[in-house]
Amino acid sequence: MAKTNDEILDDWHNAKAAFDIAAPSQKTAAFRARHIARHAAIERFGMGKHLEVYNVRFPAASASLPAWHGSDAVSGGKLIGTTDTDHFYFFCPKCADRHVMRVLDHRYHQDPGSVAAYPAESPEQVSDFTLAFKLYCPECRLTDYVKLGNIGTGRAVARRMTSTAVCTSAA
Ligand SMILES: [Zn+2]
Repeated sequence: MAKTNDEILDDWHNAKAAFDIAAPSQKTAAFRARHIARHAAIERFGMGKHLEVYNVRFPAASASLPAWHGSDAVSGGKLIGTTDTDHFYFFCPKCADRHVMRVLDHRYHQDPGSVAAYPAESPEQVSDFTLAFKLYCPECRLTDYVKLGNIGTGRAVARRMTSTAVCTSAA
């Protein structure tokens, strides 16, 4: 079934947003998804006209998404956390006493193009997505970002992250 004009524009919009927050290791997959989505729009509306209709549907979109990238403080295994019941908490990487960080905000991005860009794995993942959190430590006032997702090479990274990285940091 052919997509509606709005669906084509939404796909492109989502792919752009996902690219904006993609980690360096996920940029290639996100770029590819955005490329596919943009070309679907060009095919539907025509070159040039595709930008016109996009700007009508998403007037303030181009500059609205903040750069949600984590700093060095949370990279390389420095950000860890734990569950109590089934709720997960992040510990501030700057404070020594496992200070629980607040989650101030989040972003969710589905990436429809990315499933097609990677070979099927069994069992299949239903959708590709990135979930980003804005974290804040009330103790030292660190504000930082972390992402969860299953897009592109993130899958391989997840499989490589054996217990060593997690357990050493937690010790
Ligand atoms: Zn702190």
